[in-house]
Amino acid sequence: MSQTLTETTPAEAAEVPFVEHWIGGASASGTGERTGPIFDPARGVVQKRVRFATADDVDAAVRAATAALASWSETSISKRQQVLFAFRELLNARKGELAEILTSEHGKVLSDAAGEIARGLEVVEYACGIAQLLKGEYSEQASSGIDVYTVRQPIGVVGIISPFNFPAMVPLWFFPIAIAAGNTVVLKPSEKDPSASIWLAELFAEAGLPAGVFNVVHGDKEAVDAVLEHPGIASVSFVGSTPIAQYIYETAARNGKRVQALGGAKNHMLVLPDADLDLVADSAVNAGFGSAGERCMAISVVLASDAVADDLVAKVKERMAGLKTGDGRRSCDMGPLITQQHRDKVVTYIDQATADGAEVVVDGRDGEFDGEASGFWLGPTLIDKVPLDSTVYTDEIFGPVLSIVRVEGYEEGLGIINRSRYGNGTAIFTNDGGAARRFQREVQVGMVGVNVPIPVPVAYHSFGGWKASMFGDAKAYGPAAVAFFTREKAITSRWLDPATHGGINLGFPQHD
Ligand code: NAD
Repeated sequence: MSQTLTETTPAEAAEVPFVEHWIGGASASGTGERTGPIFDPARGVVQKRVRFATADDVDAAVRAATAALASWSETSISKRQQVLFAFRELLNARKGELAEILTSEHGKVLSDAAGEIARGLEVVEYACGIAQLLKGEYSEQASSGIDVYTVRQPIGVVGIISPFNFPAMVPLWFFPIAIAAGNTVVLKPSEKDPSASIWLAELFAEAGLPAGVFNVVHGDKEAVDAVLEHPGIASVSFVGSTPIAQYIYETAARNGKRVQALGGAKNHMLVLPDADLDLVADSAVNAGFGSAGERCMAISVVLASDAVADDLVAKVKERMAGLKTGDGRRSCDMGPLITQQHRDKVVTYIDQATADGAEVVVDGRDGEFDGEASGFWLGPTLIDKVPLDSTVYTDEIFGPVLSIVRVEGYEEGLGIINRSRYGNGTAIFTNDGGAARRFQREVQVGMVGVNVPIPVPVAYHSFGGWKASMFGDAKAYGPAAVAFFTREKAITSRWLDPATHGGINLGFPQHD
């Protein structure tokens, strides 16, 4: 069966269940004929199909969200907070069910799926404090008899478009804060693993969220373009690859929408000679191969100082020998890739490495896998001495491939990182506080780890990269999300009394 097949034959329709849209608080099949396959990547089979929305389906979702906006934006902060809190409780109680969905459609191992949900839950907990976050400022007697204050109001119906690699966490970066702030939502999750979004929408409804506040439509470019062009959508929050992020940013902005678009990455770890090499090796393996390298904050390049590079490669290789790749429902460290097509694309980079003069130290193409032979398997791969002009270095591979680039030391390593087109995450490993401090000041990257390999900020700080890793200046979650999902209004107010009545004066107002 072709992975790109979007028309459903009657035989296929009879074989597997459909994932439907969620519009106005109910499941909806929509008006389109097109559908897409949802694989079980560990078994390599189509387990479900997902409906693809037409522009009419997106319009139905926007209309449901617009209808719900009138009362939801007027609902008191304390009531909205109660619904968020109930959602948090339900999600925490039933997170095991969600983890199973993630493993079945994405392939990541169950413990990793649990970690993804935990990071999403953090954002829900942050959104539970929306009363505190929405507080404005008040300046009494800014001028004689005049007070100035600010309030934050919802922006309306917000659009969210998310990638396959975090089917729960990335939507959870956005919709809890957007909804807590009084907005309503149309989410278009990845068509590759869309069930998590529907599960979350149903759970939120169970928590007491009114119908129409949170809607989910599935699909591909057709659905995305309908979101970007719909006049009823006030903002677009996108996470995905860099070319699409740039397209989303430009198109949404041209259509007058507020937009944040987080893109791809190529994250470097700089290892200085004084670093603790065991910590470095553990960190490189965890951050390189966790979730089969399908993380935007994965470490994909280790910049190893010449003085320690041989020892480090040996230590990483030794640890990789203990990794078990297989079905995420079994006791494995790493699961399959999302599709056969993606697996084959990642393999082309390993094929290319030797031709480019690099050394394949551990070859994932030869791996053994604890799962059905039809799964989308590729073992962890270590490539040493990768030249900077090789596509192994320049491209975002998004698979279990860790590259070693050897450098003289700090200056060369920093220069390489700063010349990269991406600037999502980076890390320095050293025991020299001065070098670490210099690095955090000089590196041109949005999120920096010091002896921490995946520096994803906690929910009360914001997440986002620099350069081609993020278009727009609004980061995800944390305080930046509260600002993104609200419009600030400044009010200058005077209540007249006889003592402050100023009489006629046509001059520009000045303070007295
Ligand atoms: P993708 O760009 O292929 O898809 C992301 C979303 O865009 C999906 O909902 C998809 O349906 C939609 N889409 C795909 N092609 C489109 C097109 N031509 N026009 C309009 N919409 C389109 O990304 P992916 O493969 O799902 O996810 C992996 C990518 O996401 C990687 O590049 C990764 O680095 C990036 N990512 C970035 C972050 C971050 O925070 N910066 C986080 C997670 C993932």
